[in-house]
Amino acid sequence: MVKIDVEFKSGLFPKVGENPLCIAGPCSAETEDQIHRIAAQLAKDKRVGLLRAGIWKPRTRPNAFEGVGEPALQWLVDAGRQNGLPVTTEVANAAHVEQALKAGVDVLWIGARTTVNPFSVQEIADALKGVSIPVMVKNPLNPDVMLWIGALERLAGAGVSELAAIHRGFSPFQKTQYRNIPNWSIPIELKRLCPQIPLIVDPSHICGNRTGIEAVSQKALDLNFSGMMIETHDTPDDAWSDAAQQITPETLSEILTRLVVRLPETADEKNQQQLSQLRQEIDAIDSNLIETLGKRMGVAKEIGEIKKLLGMTILQVNRWDTIFGSRIEDGGKKGLTETFMKKFLQLVHEESIRKQTDVMNTH
Ligand code: PEP
Ligand code: MN
Repeated sequence: MVKIDVEFKSGLFPKVGENPLCIAGPCSAETEDQIHRIAAQLAKDKRVGLLRAGIWKPRTRPNAFEGVGEPALQWLVDAGRQNGLPVTTEVANAAHVEQALKAGVDVLWIGARTTVNPFSVQEIADALKGVSIPVMVKNPLNPDVMLWIGALERLAGAGVSELAAIHRGFSPFQKTQYRNIPNWSIPIELKRLCPQIPLIVDPSHICGNRTGIEAVSQKALDLNFSGMMIETHDTPDDAWSDAAQQITPETLSEILTRLVVRLPETADEKNQQQLSQLRQEIDAIDSNLIETLGKRMGVAKEIGEIKKLLGMTILQVNRWDTIFGSRIEDGGKKGLTETFMKKFLQLVHEESIRKQTDVMNTH
């Protein structure tokens, strides 16, 4: 476990099994009126616990709307106070922190483009020394769990004692159905290494559209996430940033009603027993799988030795092509998807190549 050495306060962020925290509000604060209108609409739904709005907007290219800046801080804080909602905004440097604290912002978050840069995160951490405010850290743009943890550690090191992590997906190299690929194994690894840090999902930035928000939120809840941050606008199509992914407060309420919050454990003894039996079965199967994989790698190594002796290359493309095709077909017959089989076979093949490379390089 990664040791993040602070006494954790539990306040804002729910513990596992409690109702999830819903953070909602526009991508950007655009006008005073806009943020007040949205806050008033959101406050009607008591499941919304925190009002968000971007004041300084990190944009991929210049000359887009880059946020209103400092004047909008007061709009956000006032809109929250008037509607009984604490407020949060993104900070990317020490000056932002200072201005946000001065205006009375209740919670800060660090954006994905900032988490990637340890200099910036350290600057923010230093600006927070001696200040008591919850901070949420979005994952870095690249799928690097240690960089994410590093940012949390820098803040914990500065004495921030209420921390959460926001999963907003990772920049794709190619066009995919997601704006940012969720790559769920990364937040799961964060949870494994830092179980004390609550995880919040940001389905808006993962999806980049409105249609996927509910499914991604449900998936996160089923993985024990503690809440979600969902971009909400009263007229989403007219939004000055991220128009395609924002939903109305009304749609948000409908989604919140449909989402199912499940518990990580059950108290029912009979079900517990059945579950534990099935888990034992899985344990036995996994142990066989590992045994089999070990054997397979042993054989791959022997093949490597023969190839070395005969002066053959490691890769015979035709053989690999045959294996790939036939195994995918076999997998299909057992209900294993093509995507799974491809990933699995590629992993196994890579490891075989690594083994044979070792053999070739040993003199
Ligand atoms: C945002 O929440 O508006 C934002 C800019 O997010 P991210 O840092 O995840 O891109
Ligand atoms: Mn946005």
